[in-house]
Amino acid sequence: MKGYAMLKIGESGWIEKDRPACGPMDAICKPLAVAICTSDVHTLWEGAIGDRHNMILGHECCAEVVEVGSMVKDFKPGDRVLVPAITPDWNSLEAQAGFSMHSGMLAGWKFSNFKDGVFSEYFHVNDADGNLALLPSNISPTDACMLSDMVPTGFHGVELADVQFGDTVLVVGIGPVGLMSVAGTNMRGASRIIAVGTRPVCVEAAKKYGATDFVSYKNGPIWKQVMDMTDGKGVDKVVIAGGGVETFAEAVKCLKPGGKIGNVNYLGSGDTIDIPRTEWGVGMGHKQINGGLMPGGRLRMEKLGALVSAGKLDVSPLSTHVFKGWDHLEEALFLMRDKPADLIKPVVVIEE
Ligand code: NAD
Ligand code: ZN
Repeated sequence: MKGYAMLKIGESGWIEKDRPACGPMDAICKPLAVAICTSDVHTLWEGAIGDRHNMILGHECCAEVVEVGSMVKDFKPGDRVLVPAITPDWNSLEAQAGFSMHSGMLAGWKFSNFKDGVFSEYFHVNDADGNLALLPSNISPTDACMLSDMVPTGFHGVELADVQFGDTVLVVGIGPVGLMSVAGTNMRGASRIIAVGTRPVCVEAAKKYGATDFVSYKNGPIWKQVMDMTDGKGVDKVVIAGGGVETFAEAVKCLKPGGKIGNVNYLGSGDTIDIPRTEWGVGMGHKQINGGLMPGGRLRMEKLGALVSAGKLDVSPLSTHVFKGWDHLEEALFLMRDKPADLIKPVVVIEE
């Protein structure tokens, strides 16, 4: 089979590989559509997970099942499925402890990390019954790709920040993940959503998803702007979906006592994160920082898929650049690296 692979840090291309073998609990699938992620850019060009040789990239797709193992009960060849970017080992002790995504630190992230990813004619899914979900018939393959990672990650930021009815919430970064954090924050009943970001295409989408106020990190410290907007009171919760390690200090500064930060942002550089002592209540301010990899798995896919299927969440504004056919994969990947101003997510549709 053909797959689009990372040859080494900074180099990529199409390669030939054997089709993966299907274990008794596994499935082999073929993509109907794939989406490019910021993480593919981090992996390939920034060496975020270290060097990889001939590893097929990609972890966002929807697919058709072509083969299942002898112990798989709920899926069969021909089923169209949602595929989470994170496919935990559901028998692990970590999963039993409630942290399915960390069967080993971050080890639920398998595609294009510990094994070949989904930019390929065929790909392998572990624990098929626990990880796949049937694709609702009224969700297009393009929209279904947003359910692999963007929706569950953005929403997990909201869970980590523990957003409650009436909260004032700051969402830092309104790329596709942050936009889904805005949408999730709105669904959780926040009264005011202050979004940090300026690109017009993202600002427009953020408004649709419920953002009420905007701040630019290019106009000086975020916390000062937020304090001005809130009459010096600050915010109840912060979801971080962009920026670097310095963002945490900003978030702590504009958080009310007892406030919570939910981080889903990947921190690619810096050895430590500074927490400002005074604004952290000299250690006693009850300000919590929670950072997490999104939980994958079937239940979450089914529930989030149901939101889209029922028309309660419209993910279509995210897919700004849609291509047809594998021939356009490289173009789509390079587009994500170069991030033109009008881009949110590039998607490549293989089969409608
Ligand atoms: P993105 O790069 O499209 O969006 C990040 C946004 O943050 C950009 O619009 C950027 O302009 C903005 N930004 C940069 N510096 C900023 C600052 N100082 N303050 C505020 N905003 C700033 O990326 P994305 O696809 O939306 O993903 C967001 C992050 O989530 C990435 O780091 C990605 O690797 C990570 N991620 C995490 C998980 C997870 O499971 N936790 C899953 C997928 C992606
Ligand atoms: Zn992703």
